[in-house]
Amino acid sequence: MKSIVTHRRPAGPTGWGRVRIAAILVGVFLFAVRSATAEPVALSPDEKAYLAVHGPVTLCVDPDWVPFESINARGEHEGIAADLLRLVARRTGVVFDLVPTRDWDESLEASKDGRCQVLSFLNKTPARDEWLLFTEPIFNDSNVFITREEHPFIDDPAGLAGESIVFPRGTSMEERVRAEYPNLGILTTDSEMDALSMVSDRKADMTMRSLIIAAYTIKKEGLFNLKIAGRLPNYANNLRLGVVGTQPVLRDILDKGVASITPQERGRIVNEHVAINVQTGLDKALVLKIGLAFALVAGLGLAWNYKLKKYNAELMRLSRTDLLTDLPNRRQVMARLDEELGRASRSHRPFSVIILDIDHFTAVNDRLGHQGGDRFLIAFARVLRETVRSCDLAGRIGGEEFLVLCPETDQGQAAQLAERIRAAVAGHAFEPGRRHSISAGVAALLPGETADALLCRADDALYRCKEGGRDKVCVL
Ligand code: GH3
Ligand code: MG
Ligand code: MG
Repeated sequence: MKSIVTHRRPAGPTGWGRVRIAAILVGVFLFAVRSATAEPVALSPDEKAYLAVHGPVTLCVDPDWVPFESINARGEHEGIAADLLRLVARRTGVVFDLVPTRDWDESLEASKDGRCQVLSFLNKTPARDEWLLFTEPIFNDSNVFITREEHPFIDDPAGLAGESIVFPRGTSMEERVRAEYPNLGILTTDSEMDALSMVSDRKADMTMRSLIIAAYTIKKEGLFNLKIAGRLPNYANNLRLGVVGTQPVLRDILDKGVASITPQERGRIVNEHVAINVQTGLDKALVLKIGLAFALVAGLGLAWNYKLKKYNAELMRLSRTDLLTDLPNRRQVMARLDEELGRASRSHRPFSVIILDIDHFTAVNDRLGHQGGDRFLIAFARVLRETVRSCDLAGRIGGEEFLVLCPETDQGQAAQLAERIRAAVAGHAFEPGRRHSISAGVAALLPGETADALLCRADDALYRCKEGGRDKVCVL
């Protein structure tokens, strides 16, 4: 319930302050007006005559293709396509008259039987060429691979063995992937949402969907264990306006409107429709991750190649990082452990690991609440990062468990480092008036030992510390 409180009016700006604010507001207004109207496009005498003679142009759309387009409860066209069409209309002088339909199939029928002259937002295909003329693309949307977070990035799908990919039934994409990548097991499902859910629920390894739709649906449905894992350059949706074949002049007029739209305008429109409200209670860091990555792609317009590279680099970094503490995550530490272990074995150099577990962390959570516990973990990670040497790699491998990889380090040196970490934690004021401790298990690599066996010994050492009263370093 909203409480009704009488606030004191805050002190307003004085003299110059008001003038400056007024000047800024006027500037913002003029900028908004300019960018909303921009220059009308120059039409030829034939095109002007066409518009003068013909009345409003009938338009059919997909009534249910959010966030690209839909027809809302008031019967209005809305979404990315609708906003782009409004720009085209304003600049060319074309007036669109929306013909409502139940679904996209009915829109196609209406276009064929002459009830609508223009279809919004569709790919050009040989079948559609039979009755439609197309403008240049008004919007280019990449198709991207979507996997769960732990899946490696996909450079070449031909190299994937034994993996499954799911598509909504009857898409052209399914046909192409089936033909070009016989190594992938194809699954089909009823809807866009089902395809993403199947990946999220581990029923399929990946799907390939429109970047825009995927970013929107992942955010809206909170499927935050998914990521965009790559793209095939020749798999893009080049979305155009389709004009009935009898109206070439109308197509030319619309083409001029399409050409007038700048990448910045497209980027702004995309952001408006993909930046939907996310229900509270979702993991904010992950929302930020998707949002940030998406902003990298969509924010700058349509230079997808360049942006996707940046986007993937950011996602790649995020996929290796623990989002709470910013330390390398479990996957990254384990990958580095394998590398370091291989190096140490080949060169017969010493290598050690330290597993750390915060003592009585449940009690910290009980006192500070889960969020307070999270802040504790962030501060703990900072202490850990500042205490290890530059050659070490410290990562978070579990709730309040951390692993330090120590190349070129024998058992004695690793025990010393663990002792330094223990002392640094004991000396740090995480909570006023309280001392905190860790237990640390140390193990140095034995000849021929596997990563699992090494970690197992470090874990046994840690367990021994816990058994022995905690706040200790134990070696095995
Ligand atoms: P011990 O001395 O035996 O290690 O006792 P402990 O209480 O630390 O026990 P344990 O290591 O088994 O439990 C760790 C607790 O850490 C349980 C869990 O609620 C909490 N935890 C795990 N991950 C997170 C996290 O990301 N944030 C917060 N705030 N708490 C977490
Ligand atoms: Mg613990
Ligand atoms: Mg623990």
